Amino acid sequence: MNRSEQLFERAKNVIPGGVNSPVRAFQAVGGRPRFIAKAEKEMITDVDGNTYIDYIGSWGPMILGHNHPAIREAAMEAAGRGLSFGASCPAEVEMAELICQMVPSIELVRMVNSGTEAVMSALRVARGYTGKNKIIKFEGCYHGHCDSMLVKAGSGVMTSGVPDSAGVPEGCAKDTLTAVYNDADSVRSLFSQFPGEIAAVIVEPVAANMGVVVPKEGFLSELRRICDEEKALLIFDEVITGFRLGFDGAQGYYGVTPDLTTFGKIIGAGMPVGAYGGRREIMEMVSPVGSVYQAGTLSGNPVAMAAGLAQLHILKENPKIYEEMNAMGDYFRAELSQLVKTAGAPCRVTGVGSLSCLFFTGEEVVDYRSAKTSDVSAFADYFRYMLAHGIYVAPSQFEAIFLSSVHTKEDVDRTLTVIEDYWKEKAHR
Ligand code: PMP
Repeated sequence: MNRSEQLFERAKNVIPGGVNSPVRAFQAVGGRPRFIAKAEKEMITDVDGNTYIDYIGSWGPMILGHNHPAIREAAMEAAGRGLSFGASCPAEVEMAELICQMVPSIELVRMVNSGTEAVMSALRVARGYTGKNKIIKFEGCYHGHCDSMLVKAGSGVMTSGVPDSAGVPEGCAKDTLTAVYNDADSVRSLFSQFPGEIAAVIVEPVAANMGVVVPKEGFLSELRRICDEEKALLIFDEVITGFRLGFDGAQGYYGVTPDLTTFGKIIGAGMPVGAYGGRREIMEMVSPVGSVYQAGTLSGNPVAMAAGLAQLHILKENPKIYEEMNAMGDYFRAELSQLVKTAGAPCRVTGVGSLSCLFFTGEEVVDYRSAKTSDVSAFADYFRYMLAHGIYVAPSQFEAIFLSSVHTKEDVDRTLTVIEDYWKEKAHR
């Protein structure tokens, strides 16, 4: 047994399934998960000394690559002054000012510790503000593991074939209505079925937890129109897209303004951080100003804020990073599409900016139903080949391929070559 295998065996004795988050167990793809010893720029190294080009980037936050020196130093410097105060610190103010400045829809923002918390809190605010209870989400969108959002969810929930979770009381799920991604009529129809009862529509503006499914032209603006007509709030869950598609996230990229926005890990540059924010009058519902209670002992943690601020400042001062990273994404998708076509592989390439996906289906992927037509065992075969050849993509069909600003053309070309070799070898098996 190698060291990763030994660690996994030990882990299984003391951690459910040996992992602290389900997708890490490689359940959907088989084989043993790699335990990671260190990461630098676009590369990660496992405990057995194998090095991989990493296309997960800690599931999004490593926009500038792993272990960026300025971010590491900012975190270490902050740590030198104490790990947590349980009282306000200057970096929280700076972070909130920066977010409000860069994302025009946000006038007030509250820090939390994860994307799940951000979503859970934003939903509570939406309900408190509108005085209504029902929430519309989209099939295949993942918004963290809070009870009301584990209904037809994506990501690990989709991978393990459990659309709903045990332990979620019926009462919690009954106010969650599900619509079809990229189908505004399905949203309209829910509003007419439940007139005056719907507090908010929550959406991943680019769905990145059922693979990557981009919004069709007009879909997001139509959601905006419907919410205005129905006096419901529009919530963009930008845990994946925020500060990734551009400094003002998907809302800036697509030019549609939500009422509330949730952010996650990217704000902490990999430290455990989330945030939710929006218009002043809505966010003034939050305690201690308003009647919606929400709190967190470690929220606005000084070390996490320092790391996050360091990353956001670099991005703000170098807007070209987005241009270049998104252009690399375009290049990757164009080459990959060509390669798949030449190989005659029954695959679809989707994505936008630095988010991409290789779907193992011949169908155009526009929603949960079409994403589910993917051949997951074919994906698993491809995944194992990639890993064996030094390319670390997400261990599930229903996740994104994340590029960072430090992936080079050589990395991308090498990756494309491995994929090309995969199809050639497969043809000869
Ligand atoms: N929303 C979206 C869109 C996500 O992708 C995720 C997780 N990747 C979450 C919410 C939950 O975030 P966390 O895992 O930090 O709780």
